[in-house]
Amino acid sequence: MNMDSSSSRKIVVVTGASSGIGEATARHLAAAGHHVVLGARRTDRLAVVVKELREASLSVEFAELDVTDRQGVSRFAQTVLEGHGRIDVLVNNAGVMPLAPLSALHVDEWDQMIDVNLRGVLHGIAAVLPSMLERSSGHIVNIASTAALRVDPTASVYCATKYAVRALSEGLRQENGDIRVTVVCPGFTRSELTEQGGTAEAQGAARAATEQIGLPASAIAQAVGYAIAQPSDVDVNEIVVRPTVQR
Ligand code: NDP
Repeated sequence: MNMDSSSSRKIVVVTGASSGIGEATARHLAAAGHHVVLGARRTDRLAVVVKELREASLSVEFAELDVTDRQGVSRFAQTVLEGHGRIDVLVNNAGVMPLAPLSALHVDEWDQMIDVNLRGVLHGIAAVLPSMLERSSGHIVNIASTAALRVDPTASVYCATKYAVRALSEGLRQENGDIRVTVVCPGFTRSELTEQGGTAEAQGAARAATEQIGLPASAIAQAVGYAIAQPSDVDVNEIVVRPTVQR
């Protein structure tokens, strides 16, 4: 469904839009009538999604994006700003979760989680905040996790990155009265998140729980859509969405 009011059509950037929650969010926001720019490393996946949505007459485009590359994130945002004049909403969604006990010393994966889940979010903020402040308007949606609310074994570093995202989101909100900031904390959600890295035991346990009780990614997309759809003077600061049976 396209919106008839152009003032409610937003220019939205979604990072990590090639699968899971990011893809579902891009689909949901495009269907709501926004122009959505999808970013991720797997451009073949983005191309398939964008083709499908364009065939449904939705307004979407994609570009390669590695959120660990600060200059690359800046160039990505600059291209959108040059093409559309503004970025109304940034959804910082890209993330990785290679679960393992600290004693396994997967130090490279600790770095990867910090680089993608934390630095990636900061790179996104750095790329859009100046233009948002210039226009005194904008919305940054950070996808954290219920791992930002409690720590579990094998998720220490993952939780640390998500606690950090929640903390910096609160600082961003307090510092900028014109900018809306939303943290979305999903519980178990079906996606590709448990497919990379970690230990077989830890990832297998997370995968089993997700298969048993995980939400569809569309449930999280709808929460993002709700926050974006509020009037500009209403900032939905935090949304926690868990499967009903999740403890
Ligand atoms: P997926 O693995 O399905 O999606 C992760 C996305 O992040 C992919 O599109 C991937 O794209 C992208 N990504 C990873 N590394 C980079 C990078 N360096 N640069 C750009 N994009 C990158 O998992 P989810 O959909 O579950 O994860 C999305 C977010 O939701 C994450 O932040 C995750 O922590 C969070 N989350 C997920 C939960 C769940 O249960 N699924 C629960 C709570 C939070 P590509 O590889 O193509 O670059």
